[in-house]
Amino acid sequence: MDEDVIQLAKDTEICKNCINVVIGKGNENSEIMFIGEAPGRKEDEQGEPFVGAAGKNLDKLLEGVGLSMDEIYIVNILKCRPPENRDPLPEEIRAHTPWLLKQIKDMNPRIVCSLGNYSTKFLMALGDVDLMKKQPGITSVHGKVQIIEMQGLKFRLIPLFHPAAIIYNRGIQGLWEEDMKIVKKEVMLKA
Ligand code: URA
Repeated sequence: MDEDVIQLAKDTEICKNCINVVIGKGNENSEIMFIGEAPGRKEDEQGEPFVGAAGKNLDKLLEGVGLSMDEIYIVNILKCRPPENRDPLPEEIRAHTPWLLKQIKDMNPRIVCSLGNYSTKFLMALGDVDLMKKQPGITSVHGKVQIIEMQGLKFRLIPLFHPAAIIYNRGIQGLWEEDMKIVKKEVMLKA
């Protein structure tokens, strides 16, 4: 089964053409999972998620609310870099998300922070790729905590802007910081 979900992703063209398959970084035994979109050039070269410019932003924002890499685990929807960082295709999401779902099941996080539209819509569509386009965009759902129950899993979803969006649109930096306070509050709820 594990082999199957990994092979399904590895059989896609993007995986045949990438340098590294990017699986995850951080602490798999923590209770907070962050889910991005896909590796970029730096991530592809280094084999780790969020090590490029978007990653630097993410590090700063996490630091701002006192969260360390030891308290979170970061993965992506796609495990391999699409050429020229183009958007993920529906068939790629279909082939790569069984692996993502296995990562979520193995970790069983209490809180999932989705970064940007793709991971937010995938989770709000409860894993049905065809229903992703019917989901509201990140601009209307960011910072709004939702309870997600899917495939035997239950977690609190906190949709966040993608940290790369801050590079192109400085105007959302303030919103991101507000949203991160909500993340911190959710983390503290149980502590
Ligand atoms: N953007 C993502 O969504 N994921 C990464 O790993 C890097 C940039």
